[in-house]
Amino acid sequence: MATEASAKKVAPRVEMPCQPPAERRHNFKEVALGYNGDMAATEASRCLQCKRPTCVRGCPVEVPIRDFIREVAAGNVERAYEIIRTANSLPAVCGRVCPQENQCEGKCILKAKGEAIAIGRLERFVADTHLAACAAAPDSCPSETSETQAKGRVACIGSGPASLTCAGICAAAGLEVDVYEALHESGGVLVYGIPAFRLPKDVVAAEIAGLRELGVRFHLNHVGGRTVDVADLRKDHDAVFIGVGAGLPIFLGVPGENLVGVFSANEYLTRINLGRGYDFPEHDTPPFPGRHVTVFGAGNVAMDAARTALRMGAESVHIVYRRTRAEMPARAEEIEHAAEEGVEFALLSAPLRFNGDEQLRLTSVTLQKMELGEPDASGRRRPVPVEGAVEDLETDLAIVALGTRSNPILLDATPDLARTERGYIEADPETGETSIPNVFAGGDIVTGAATVILAMGAGRKAAQEIVRRLGGK
Ligand SMILES: Cc1cc2nc3c(=O)[nH]c(=O)nc-3n(C[C@H](O)[C@H](O)[C@H](O)COP(=O)(O)OP(=O)(O)OC[C@H]3O[C@@H](n4cnc5c(N)ncnc54)[C@H](O)[C@@H]3O)c2cc1C
Ligand code: SF4
Repeated sequence: MATEASAKKVAPRVEMPCQPPAERRHNFKEVALGYNGDMAATEASRCLQCKRPTCVRGCPVEVPIRDFIREVAAGNVERAYEIIRTANSLPAVCGRVCPQENQCEGKCILKAKGEAIAIGRLERFVADTHLAACAAAPDSCPSETSETQAKGRVACIGSGPASLTCAGICAAAGLEVDVYEALHESGGVLVYGIPAFRLPKDVVAAEIAGLRELGVRFHLNHVGGRTVDVADLRKDHDAVFIGVGAGLPIFLGVPGENLVGVFSANEYLTRINLGRGYDFPEHDTPPFPGRHVTVFGAGNVAMDAARTALRMGAESVHIVYRRTRAEMPARAEEIEHAAEEGVEFALLSAPLRFNGDEQLRLTSVTLQKMELGEPDASGRRRPVPVEGAVEDLETDLAIVALGTRSNPILLDATPDLARTERGYIEADPETGETSIPNVFAGGDIVTGAATVILAMGAGRKAAQEIVRRLGGK
């Protein structure tokens, strides 16, 4: 029997235009430029409109993908936007940063032919078209309306994708929502972690503005566990959602890590992104440019840090990784973009120590050469040191991007909140409820460092339960 994919000849995927590498490595403007209307319609018309769309199974928030793509193909972009918004409150963000290749596109029936529908790019096109239309003619853009079935008050602590999603769904159901954010800007990693060349600040701001229109109140500079605590919030809110992420950096633990010039990726990216360090002296966060930069780690965070360092004017940027390129956990597209821009890869190398001058400024890192041995518990071949193979790499800025863990501030201030062995919040997988009744949690603070869409999926699950308990559908 012919499958849906084989029944029809499928045209190739429409490529996404990008800024040329030589140009973009000197600016913070967005790298991928997005589809225009013709490109989007052509790409959308490749979709087979499957009766049982497998793509939706790959989406943690279950966007009705087939339905919105059908509207794009027909030129009804605003209708497509409405369809996406039934499940996703941050489509312009997700269209840019979701690992689609492992999610919706990974499950698209056309993947078998190597040419899955570019669902993320289409989602981005729809959201951007909507935001541009609203910006051009605000009066003609319908305000978000709430469905007002549920009654009550909800507090969200943290304002990353988990809390923003929870807040959006609760507000749309008629609940009063207060978001308490420790920093001076809302958005979580979307603003302080992911650089503007992958996710422009105004895109995040526009999607957050949509939540404000729904009535969500943002209280910035409020630290959960210090300025506000869960016990107090429970007194005047019917439910509390904790979405504080997992932002405490993990370090290498090698000698010299306290030298001037060694940063965690978290601090480095926050200075540049949230503090607008790339806009000095317009913004007065002192930048730390670095001439020869080394980045330790090989995930998306490492790629972001390396590409940021290039844009800050570094002469050389090396990613130091103890395995090979094939084992790098970052998205393939991010690794390719980094390489195209000039990031070099010091593979099969592990840091032994950082070396400094008499002013305790970093001057070089000593690297141990490695080779791959037998597979370890993760199934990947274990890196083993090659005896005597040691070399120094000149560096004046080192960025450690090895991952993060939970920050104890809120957890220590809330002793009756049960934690997992790994120090994250224990939450019911179906509802997100914690050991404290009507206190919910989701996102990285429950799973450990994960993805935007998984955090959004957790925020959505908790919101649906909160709305149900407070009288909504
Ligand atoms: C550099 C970088 C690049 C990434 N790239 C991608 C990518 O391309 N695609 C992808 O899917 N994922 C990516 N991720 C991961 C993704 O961003 C996270 O998984 C996601 O943001 C987690 O969402 P969250 O809502 O749980 O937490 P966060 O986004 O971390 O938000 C938590 C918020 O809570 C605030 N907060 C913390 N403590 C308190 C407190 N005590 N009181 C009040 N507020 C508090 C924080 O300031 C923050 O605003 C990246 C992460 C980083 C660091
Ligand atoms: S995106 Fe892929 S799986 Fe989804 S409906 Fe279209 S062809 Fe089918």
